Amino acid sequence: MRRKIITIGSGFAGLAAATTAADLGYEVLLLEKNSQPGGRAQRWEKDGFKFDLGPSWYWMPDVFENYFGRFGKRVEDYYKLVRLDPSYRVYFDKKDFIDVPGSLNEMYKLYDSLEPGSSENLKTFLQQAKYKYETGMNDYVLRPSYSITEFIDLNVISQLMKIQMFSSLRSHVRRLFKNERIIKMLEFPVLFLGASPAKTPAMYSLMNYADIELGTWYPEGGMGKIVEAMVKLAEEKGVKILFDTEVNKIIVQNGKVVSVTTGENTFECDALIAGSDYQHTEQILLGDQHRSYDKKYWDSRKLSPSSLLFYLGINKKINSLLHHTLFFHEDYDLHASEIYDNPKWPSKPLFYTSTASKTDKTVSPAGMENLVILMPLAAGIEDTDELREKYFNMIIDNFEKITGESIKENIVLKRSYCVKDFEKDYHSFKGNAYGLANVLLQTAFFKPKLKSKKVANLYFTGQLTVPGPGVPPSLISGQIAASEVHKYFTRIKS
Ligand SMILES: Cc1cc2nc3c(=O)[nH]c(=O)nc-3n(C[C@H](O)[C@H](O)[C@H](O)COP(=O)(O)OP(=O)(O)OC[C@H]3O[C@@H](n4cnc5c(N)ncnc54)[C@H](O)[C@@H]3O)c2cc1C
Repeated sequence: MRRKIITIGSGFAGLAAATTAADLGYEVLLLEKNSQPGGRAQRWEKDGFKFDLGPSWYWMPDVFENYFGRFGKRVEDYYKLVRLDPSYRVYFDKKDFIDVPGSLNEMYKLYDSLEPGSSENLKTFLQQAKYKYETGMNDYVLRPSYSITEFIDLNVISQLMKIQMFSSLRSHVRRLFKNERIIKMLEFPVLFLGASPAKTPAMYSLMNYADIELGTWYPEGGMGKIVEAMVKLAEEKGVKILFDTEVNKIIVQNGKVVSVTTGENTFECDALIAGSDYQHTEQILLGDQHRSYDKKYWDSRKLSPSSLLFYLGINKKINSLLHHTLFFHEDYDLHASEIYDNPKWPSKPLFYTSTASKTDKTVSPAGMENLVILMPLAAGIEDTDELREKYFNMIIDNFEKITGESIKENIVLKRSYCVKDFEKDYHSFKGNAYGLANVLLQTAFFKPKLKSKKVANLYFTGQLTVPGPGVPPSLISGQIAASEVHKYFTRIKS
């Protein structure tokens, strides 16, 4: 008889874990509390406007190719990718912006125009970033990171020095560049990692390699197409998915998970992979005596930001935006310190807009735009309708001032999303959007472990464990978790 694995959650990590486990020969049941798959990448559609509620940047296309490739499929079997060029626009002031080119040669020209001779430094920077990306993606990212001993060999230690694990991204960038705009453009990708550049290891300049060399892509139809593809593949591999099925307890007997219950139904299993938020799984679903981490541990974690989001239908074309536009008109450090050091609603907020309708006619009615606005915000902060509305007005006013284009009177559809929604929809700890901040002391073996310390057949996956936040790391996390469960079954058989 085949062994049974239950996976909780149909985010990228849960889907990847379930599909990999099914491909390894297990009987897999995936339980999802919401009525649609994708977790933080769920979709919303109204009045002809279609929105991806979560991720909008398709980076690291190699990770997606490798994922579908391991099952003998190709990305193009499921969706069509378009490379964006320019990759994105950055506003620095009123009507003052730079379009970041998708081609490397144009990028060198841009750097030289901002800081004469700086293209040579960009080449050096990118060479190092490429080394970090390749070392990281071919080696570190695939380790389960159970213990520091996985990293203690001379070769690895010398690699860690080379990939600049112990210095900050900020000092690395500033050693090579003086121009403030170049610095802002190079520091921006770590926004995804949820930490300030001063506290992010320089190793993460691998994200600049992903940005500048590997490019920004878009799956036609939206990011939800990736989820659709993953669900199709999971079902082809025999994964059974139940939606509207919320797990409310994990039953452990003799140190092993034997079943999970939803209150109404009990599902038995031989192993469990939890793709639900780690803190929720441990603190709410597991009994006290089976937890690897206590409340104090979770309270002391540095979380990535939550976000205030608006999904807007605009009944005209907006000329001042590209598909991705960053508004860096205010001091990044002030906003970052109001997220991490002194949590409060930002006094001078930066924000980001995504307008997929610039690339894709299918996501808005003709002549209109589906505008998403995202403002990073401290996790766990007070969230009220009044605060959302106050910031909506502030952001729209700033938007109009900076772009010189009015949109307020053209909003025909509006939905907001913030801390409380993250908590309700995903059981997100303090409403975090991207898991834990990637500071050095929360990297690799310092992260909550992929395997429970107390329950033999309980594994975790997703953005709160290794390798970390973002769609590509979550995809990788699911594959590692399934491989570790496979090793567990192989061990207990022998
Ligand atoms: C606004 C936003 C923008 C982002 N932008 C980008 C981007 O542009 N590019 C990028 O790469 N990444 C981006 N990210 C990050 C990326 O979306 C996440 O890292 C990734 O989707 C996390 O996937 P996951 O599988 O770990 O978790 P989730 O997607 O949260 O999946 C967990 C699933 O578990 C389910 N669940 C929870 N509790 C239970 C329970 N008790 N029973 C049953 N089911 C349960 C949830 O409903 C959910 O479906 C963004 C995230 C957000 C929120």
